[in-house]
Order: sequence, then C-alpha cells, then structure tokens
Amino acid sequence: VIIYLKKETPENIIEDILGNIRQGGIDAFYIEPYNLIISHKFHNKEIFQAHPYVENQQLLDTSYKLSSREFKSNNTTINIKGVEIGNNHFNMIAGPCAIENEEQIFGTAEYLNQLDVKFIRGGAYKPRTSPYTFRGLGIEGLKLIRAAADKYDLRVVTELIDLKLLDEIVEYSDIIQIGSRNQSNFYLLSELGKINKPVLLKRGMQSKVEEWLLAADYILSGGNEKLILCERGIRSFDPSSRNLMDIGVIPLIKSLSHLPIFADPSHGTGDAKFVHSMSLSSIAAGANGLMIEVHPNPTKSVSDSKQALGFSDFKTLLNSVEDLAKYFGKSCDFEISDRNISLSQ
Ligand code: PEP
Ligand code: MN
Repeated sequence: VIIYLKKETPENIIEDILGNIRQGGIDAFYIEPYNLIISHKFHNKEIFQAHPYVENQQLLDTSYKLSSREFKSNNTTINIKGVEIGNNHFNMIAGPCAIENEEQIFGTAEYLNQLDVKFIRGGAYKPRTSPYTFRGLGIEGLKLIRAAADKYDLRVVTELIDLKLLDEIVEYSDIIQIGSRNQSNFYLLSELGKINKPVLLKRGMQSKVEEWLLAADYILSGGNEKLILCERGIRSFDPSSRNLMDIGVIPLIKSLSHLPIFADPSHGTGDAKFVHSMSLSSIAAGANGLMIEVHPNPTKSVSDSKQALGFSDFKTLLNSVEDLAKYFGKSCDFEISDRNISLSQ
C-alpha cells in the first residue's frame, strides 16, 4: 500500500502509523520527499481509512512504486538547460565511448553542434572488463568534455562508477550516467536520490524489468525525480552479438512507468552496422531518445571501436532519426535537414 499523509502530519503520528504496520511483522517506510508511507506487504486499506492524517491510500501490486504509472500517470519530463526530455520530446545523446584527448572530444563536439545535437557523451572513468585496458582520463577527461561542451553549447552526459567520484561528476556533468554494471549498486543509487542532477539509469545486463524499476525507485525515493531509463541490451546465451538488444522492453517500460526511456543501440548490438536499423526500431517502439557512440575515427577508438559510428554515418543516421521521430509525432531537440555541414580546420 501507499499511504499518502496530510501535509502537516506530526512526526510522532508518522511513527505511530509505521509502528502499527510493523506490529504485524511487516516492514513499512516513510518516504520523506513525498510525505508518504510505503509498505510492500501491507494490503489492508481499512485500518487507516478514517485516520485524521491519512489523505489517501493506494493499493499497488507491483514491488516498485514511485516509478510506476499507477503512482504517477503523467509522463515525467525533465528540463536540462532549456532542453526538454520525456513525453513527446525526442533527444539525441552522442559522442565517444571514452574521452581520449582534446582533439577527439573538441572535434566531436564541434561536429555535434553543427548537426544541432544538444547532448555529448563520453566517459572519463570507464568500467572496463579487463584491468589491462584504457580506463579513462579521469578528472582531465571531465575537464576536456566540459570545456568542449561549453564551447559548442552542449550538455554533458558522463558516467559515475563510484561514490567517491560523486562530487566531481556532479560538477562537470549535466546528466549522470549510471552504467549497466552499477544498476544494482544500491548505495550509489540512494546517494543519487539526494542530489539535484538528472540521472540516466542504464539497464543492468542481467536485470529483469522489475529489478530495473526497483533501482529507479531507489533514486526516486530519495527525492530526485529527474530520471531517465536507458535500454542497452542484456546478456543472452548467444554470443553472436555483443548483447541482446531488447526493443520489446521499450513499449513495456512505457506501459509500466512514467519515466522517459532511451535506447543505446551501440552497446545494444556492439556493431556499427546495426546501429541504424536498431535506432529506427527503437523510435518505432516508442523511445524518447537515443544514445549513440560516435568517434572522429572509429577504427582508432580506444574502446568499443567496433560499434562507434563515424561522423558521416552519424549524420545519415540523424537524418533518418529526425524523419522517423517526427513521423511518430515527437518533437526533436535537433533539426538538421537541409543543412550544409562543414568543419573548420
Ligand atoms: C557506456 O555507455 O560507455 C557504457 C559503459 O555502457 P554500459 O554501462 O551500457 O555498458
Ligand atoms: Mn562504450
């Protein structure tokens, strides 16, 4: 049940209600930012029906609550420095897997800006499977992507891999990415709930939808409502592709949750050849945005080189994305048709 409390409910009354529920050996939690009590196992609406401080009660079958459509019927929208995300908006996030050097990130930023893209991605701290591979430039990388973004009017999306880097990532980013490997890092998630910075929560590579939405609840329950989900493929039995991109999860999430959902076909497929078709499939499935790995020279990319698009392929993709997103009634945060793209240098 969700018990919605009246505005000025005194603390001792909240404790009373919690104690009352817990008497039966059932857990209950006061969620302060929303002024409500959530108990997953308590289903009795009668007991607090006439309680003077109880505004309303809602029975909800799902284990996740705050991320559910039943809790909030309106689609969540997020404004990031003037750019809207969610509902009927469509956004493009693009950039390299990792920030490698000044030339790479400034070159990418310049190109994205010419295509009117509003978000640049790039990891400064990379969660690599092998400790013997490039793990990112760290703070130097963050400074580079921030400077490039500021020069070319872009917003920064970068990954947080550890709690001790939180302040640093908050300072340099506009959206904090939580990667697949940290989707179940619950302490990290609850800390993100306490900050006022949008979060893009990728799906854990072996997460069920329920687990993913519970992870979302970890962030929401701390009071941070600026949350975006991102499908990036799950692990399957079949090694033929890097991941099994779950297009079907997009309409599913839209029916279960009010949160915006993006798709990352770069990690979803692991192969640049399939990024175009899977991007368009994601749009048709209802995605609110895409995250695409783009590199000035994909074969030279220090990480994920196989899946990165070069500039001209990305431009071709962006054209199709714009057309299809508009066909489905979305308003794109970029407008590239009929532009002449030329790079300085
Ligand atoms: C990334 O976006 O660079 C990344 C590491 O993605 P994921 O967490 O989905 O593997
Ligand atoms: Mn990558």
